[in-house]
Amino acid sequence: AIEKEEKKFRAGGVDVSLYRGVWVFAEQRDGNLLNVAIELVGEGRKIADALEVPLTAVLLGNNIDGLAEKLVKYGADEVLYANHDLLNVYTTDGYTKVIYDLIKERKPEIMLIGATNIGRDLGPRISARVHTGLTADCTKLDVDLENRRLMQTRPAFGGNLMATIVCPDHRPQMSTVRPGVMEKAKYDENRKGNIVKFTPDLKDEDIRAKVTEVVKGGKAEVQLEESKIIVSGGRGLGNPEGFKLIEDLAKKLGGVVGASRATVDAGWIEHSHQVGQTGKTVRPSLYVACGISGAIQHLAGMQESKVIVAINKDADAPIFKVADYGIVGDVYEVLPELIEALDNV
Ligand code: FAD
Repeated sequence: AIEKEEKKFRAGGVDVSLYRGVWVFAEQRDGNLLNVAIELVGEGRKIADALEVPLTAVLLGNNIDGLAEKLVKYGADEVLYANHDLLNVYTTDGYTKVIYDLIKERKPEIMLIGATNIGRDLGPRISARVHTGLTADCTKLDVDLENRRLMQTRPAFGGNLMATIVCPDHRPQMSTVRPGVMEKAKYDENRKGNIVKFTPDLKDEDIRAKVTEVVKGGKAEVQLEESKIIVSGGRGLGNPEGFKLIEDLAKKLGGVVGASRATVDAGWIEHSHQVGQTGKTVRPSLYVACGISGAIQHLAGMQESKVIVAINKDADAPIFKVADYGIVGDVYEVLPELIEALDNV
C-alpha cells in the first residue's frame, strides 16, 4: 500500500500550486520542547510571513498537554497535535506514518525539522515516502518570493563551500536545520492560535521496529546546543590533560565543555564537543575560549554567543576580535586563578 501511495508522488514532480503553508516539526523529549523546536518556530514564522501563509507546528507524543499552547505563544498559527500511546517514544515507522498521512491530506509547501538524532532519522524517511528532496543540516534559509522557493544553504565538501539548494518540482520543500543556528522565537503570552487535536491512524503493526527499553548512557553525550554556558579548550592547552582545567571551570560555572577541531583531531576529546563549522553551532549566554586562536571555522560556530571571554597568550590572536572580554595570559596561570576566585564567590 505504501508503494502505491509513493508512486503517486513520483514522476515529473507535483502540481506545486496545490501546496500551501509552512510546517515545523516541534520535537519534544520527556514532555519538554527542545530549543531547536523553538528556533524553528522563529525561523518558520519569518518564512510564513514572507510567503503570506500560516505557520503550523506538528507536535507528536504522549502526555504532552500544555506544549501545544506554548507553541502558539511562541508564534505558531496552528498546532497539529496528537497524543497517543504509540507515540510515547520516537519510532521511525510511527512518526513517519503520522506525518506522511498529514502531508498527504494537508499539503504543506515547506517542512522544517531540527537536525537532531531524531530529526536526521525522520526527515529522510518522510522525504523518501513523499518523494521530495531534503536538504540536510541547513545553516541558513531564505525565500525566493517570485518562485515561492526555499533557498536552503548548508556547508558542503567538508565545510569548504556553502551550497544553496532548491527543490523546484516536488513538495514539500524539506530541510533539517542545525540546532543553535536560528534565533529562538519570542514567547508572547497574548498570542492566539488554533490547536487541532487529532487521533492518528496508527496501529501496533505499523511499527516494525519496537523500542522495548530506553537505557540512558552512563556518559550522556554533551548537550552543547542546549547549554547556556560553554567553556572550550583549544590546542593552546598543549595536551589532553589540560581539559581537566576546562572541566573544572565549566563545572564551577554550571556549564559544559566545548573544544576546537584541533583538539578533536588530536584525539584529546570526543567530536561531540567540537564547536564550529564542522562541529556544533552554539549561541550560549557565556562562551569562554581557552587557548583557541579564533580560526574562521571555529568562529562560525560560536560568534553569536552573548558574551565571549577569550584567554590566549598571544595578544594578536584573532579570537580577541570577537571577544567581549580578553585575558592575555597562559591558560595554566589564568584558569587556576579563575577557578580559585570562583571558589570564593
Ligand atoms: P590553534 O589555531 O593552533 O590555536 C592555539 C592557540 O592557543 C593560539 O592562538 C596560541 O596563541 C594559544 N596558546 C598556545 N599556548 C597557550 C597557553 N599556554 N595559554 C594560552 N594560550 C595559548 N576548527 C574548529 O574549531 N571547529 C570546526 O568546526 C572547524 N571546521 C573546519 C572545517 C574546515 C573545512 C577546515 C579547513 C578547518 C576547520 N577547522 C575547524 C579548523 C580551524 O581552521 C583551525 O585549525 C582550528 O580551529 C584551530 O584550533 P585551535 O584554535 O585550538 O588551535
